[in-house]
This record gives sequence, structure tokens and C-alpha cells, in this order.
Amino acid sequence: MGDNFKNQIDGKWLAAASAKTFENRNPADTDDLIGLFPASAAEDADGAVAAAKKAFASWRLVPAPKRGEILYRVGELLKKYKEELARIETREMGKVLKETRGDVQEGIDCAFLNAGEGRRLFGETTPAELPNKFAMSVRTPIGVCALITPWNFPLAIPTWKLFPALICGNTVILKPAEDTPQTATRFVEILIEAGVPPGVVNLVHGRGEEVGAALVRNKDVQLVSFTGSAAVGREIAASCGQNLKRVSLELGGKNAQIVMEDADVDLAVEGALWGAFGTTGQRCTATSRLIVHRDVAKKVTDALVARAEKIKIGDGLDEKNEMGPLINQAAREKVLRYIEIGKQEGARLRTGGAIPTSANCAKGFFFQPTIFDQVKPNMRIAQEEIFGPVLSIIEIASFEEAIAVLNGTAYGLSSSIYTNDVTRAFRAMRDIEAGITYINGPTIGAEVHLPFGGVKDTGNGHREAGTTVYDIFTEWKSIYVDYSGKLQKAQIDNN
Ligand code: NAD
Repeated sequence: MGDNFKNQIDGKWLAAASAKTFENRNPADTDDLIGLFPASAAEDADGAVAAAKKAFASWRLVPAPKRGEILYRVGELLKKYKEELARIETREMGKVLKETRGDVQEGIDCAFLNAGEGRRLFGETTPAELPNKFAMSVRTPIGVCALITPWNFPLAIPTWKLFPALICGNTVILKPAEDTPQTATRFVEILIEAGVPPGVVNLVHGRGEEVGAALVRNKDVQLVSFTGSAAVGREIAASCGQNLKRVSLELGGKNAQIVMEDADVDLAVEGALWGAFGTTGQRCTATSRLIVHRDVAKKVTDALVARAEKIKIGDGLDEKNEMGPLINQAAREKVLRYIEIGKQEGARLRTGGAIPTSANCAKGFFFQPTIFDQVKPNMRIAQEEIFGPVLSIIEIASFEEAIAVLNGTAYGLSSSIYTNDVTRAFRAMRDIEAGITYINGPTIGAEVHLPFGGVKDTGNGHREAGTTVYDIFTEWKSIYVDYSGKLQKAQIDNN
């Protein structure tokens, strides 16, 4: 029997008002019940929003460097609890420990980055056009923010949103994914231990369509920051549009790695393996297309197939395993559907494509690393996000064709090119339509101090991480101070 977990509202741990709960189970072993979590509804969401609204009145007045000191303590505590958090994450989300430790490390990096930025929330000062007048711009907090997050980075993604929101003086309600509620709960406990005051961070668990949608609708929520699927992102954007509410969206991807004939082929194979099968292919930046020059296609494909077949699949808590399960049954059914689609479209299944039969995989949502070749750029498996360990290999005959194929999807998150030709590298940096481009590295590996996000259907123009994230979580205010002692009229008195 698992434990009973609660929402966090206004400093108190509470069950859902309805007392309803939902189960959280280990995707590597569905007999392992992690716990019961509140199946919250609109009334719980509204209570959390009211608490955040009340707390905003005082939190916005705490100097940003002081807010930064709390975030610094959060970073120290995340370091202290790193191993515990990684184990919680692996148990409820499935990815291997090496990766969940990386996920926690990203949260630590994000805490220290934002703690420091508390002393640097710079605006501008500029000469006014009239005498004895001063002009400046400052960042001001927005108010109550709803943060709605997916399950694939259960700690890192909440930290990306929550730390910038707090350092800028906002208060928040975190609505984590139903599949990873325990990591979020432990994270909020740590925030409280570090000294975050009651009501500044509230946590509500439950189904997106119910409690998530209620948060999005609530008139006192000024901003919705969402990471998840494009389908849900569109719904949220439509609802926010009706209420003229600020919304930042980080959505899906169909990321590609190009391998040119002049590339270091071994390095490119290494990169593709990590990009395609790391996190069981469930990263928004996962490599799902490999665009390979025909001169090296056979060598690259054969090497990849051989390496993919050696990947050790199993429970991520066992350190000898290299790839954990998919997140849930629906995800595995979706991957299986795409295997059939790929075959029907005429792609050649080179390896994988099935549920592993070994005994250690019997109780989880495991899936074999899968590679299709002879994929055409317009096939559905080369256009739609599968979100599993499935790589589609597309052959091309020139650099120009490679760029055109890479750009030929609705998404534009991450991208990569392996080439030793500096001219091609620079042309790729200019011509690839994506928010992130790697040269001689895989499509995954973002660092927290650079902007993160994508173009086209991957988002709505915002960038998380780096310092660009502060444009999401603040309003700009322009301030004019006239110390001339008389009425001065801009544009009229100065000619
Ligand atoms: P999802 O869209 O199903 O759910 C994301 C979150 O939204 C969850 O917390 C869910 O409960 C909530 N939600 C669902 N319906 C809602 C609604 N109607 N109103 C409000 N909230 C709702 O996505 P997922 O399956 O959890 O995550 C996988 C997706 O996330 C993939 O498409 C992946 O590419 C994307 N993703 C993107 C990034 C990025 O930064 N671009 C990062 C990670 C994941």
C-alpha cells in the first residue's frame, strides 16, 4: 500500500475538497503502488489561486536579492537531497538513475542561476528628451502564475518555471503531471524547508482537463506557463486568448540530426543513440529523425542498429540498465500504433518495433529501441511526434536537401548537424528553423543559462531559461520623473 499525499495550499497540506484520490504507480513495475494523490477539482484550484493572490501582496515587496537568498537555500537543499529525489523520479517516471540525477542537477543549476539574477533584474536608464526629467524602465511582477508541467522532466521543468517566477516577485500554483506527482510534492516540501512563505507556492494535483483547466480559466490567474503537448497547448492558448491572459507555451518537437558525408561517423552514431534512446525517446528534444547523406547511410545505419540491439532495457533503479520503460500504457499503445503506421507507409523496420519479452520487462511499459530506414520525409513517422524510442532514418544527397528535410515539419525545437566542414556548419546555424542547433553534438543537452524553446508549432515565441525567461514572468514599466517644477509636454515642448 502506498502513501497518501496532499495538495499544498496557503502553507497547509490538504486533501482534495471532494476527498477523491488517484493512484500513482511505477511504470517499470505496475504492482508497485507509490501512493494516492488528491484528484483535485475547480474548488481546490480556486482555493490555491486565492492563497497565491493573498501572498502576492507581501511577496512582491520582498527585495529580489532576498528572494534570491531563499532560492540559494533551495539550491543547497536540492544538492543535499539529490540522490533521494533522483530515486523518487526514477520510481515514478521510469528513466534511469543517471538521467534523473541529471534532471535534479538541472534544477540545482537553475536555482543558483536565478538566485544570482535576483541582483541583476536590470532595466534601462536613458536620457529624457526634456530638461530636468529622468527616464527609466523597470521589471515588475505579473501576479499569480499557473505553472502546468509534463512528466518527462518532473523536477527540472517545474524549476525552470518556478524559480524565475519567484525571483521576479510572482506567486504560483504548480499543477504537475498526473504521472509524476511525488517529485513535485517533495520539491514543494523542500521549498518550504528553504523558507518560501505560505501561499507563495501552492501545489494542486489532479487531471489536466479538470484542475488544470480550472486554473487556466480562473480570472485571478494572470499568467499561464505551460509545457506539454501541442494539442493541449492550443486549448490553453484559446482559453487564455478569450481572457487576454499572458500564456507561454513549450510544446512538442520532431527533432532531427543531420549526418553529412564529411562527418566523424562514429561520433555521429554515438550522438544519435543518445539523442534517440535517452529517456526512452521521451524528451521534447529527442532525436526522432536522422537525416543521413547517402554516401555514409549504410555505415551509419548498420552501426546504429548493432548498438541499439545492445541497449540494456529494464528498471531504471537498477544501475546496469541503460533504458527504462515508457511512461504508461497509453504511451506504449501510441508507439505501437506508429510502428504499424511506419510499416504501412513503406518504411523498413530495421530493429525493435515490439515489446521486449524478457522476464525483467514483464511488469512495466517497456519497448525495444526501434529503427526504421527507407523513410521518406513526408511519412507520418517523419512528421508526427511519437514520443518513444523510435528513430526514422531519411537518406539525402546534398547539404541543401538535408536542410530542407530538417525544416520540413510543423515543429522547430532542437536540431543538430554533424559535419567537419566549417562552411556547412555556419550555413546550418543560419538556415535551420529551430530554437536550438547543435554542431557535432546530439539534439539533447541544453544548459540552463541559455534560452530554451522553439519556433513554429513548438511554442508561441517565448524562451524559458537564460535571462529571456524574465520576459515571460515580468511586465515592463516605463517611469518618468519630472523634477523641472513645471508642466513639460513630450513631443510638443522639445522642438
Ligand atoms: P500533456 O499536454 O498531456 O500534459 C501536460 C500537462 O498539462 C499535464 O500536467 C496535464 O495534466 C496538463 N493538462 C492536460 N490537459 C489539460 C487541459 N485541458 N488544461 C490544462 N492542463 C491540462 O503532455 P505530456 O504528455 O505530459 O508531455 C509530453 C509532451 O510535452 C510532448 O509533446 C513533449 O514534446 C512536450 N514537452 C515539451 C517540452 C518543451 O520544452 N518544448 C518539454 C517537455 C515536454
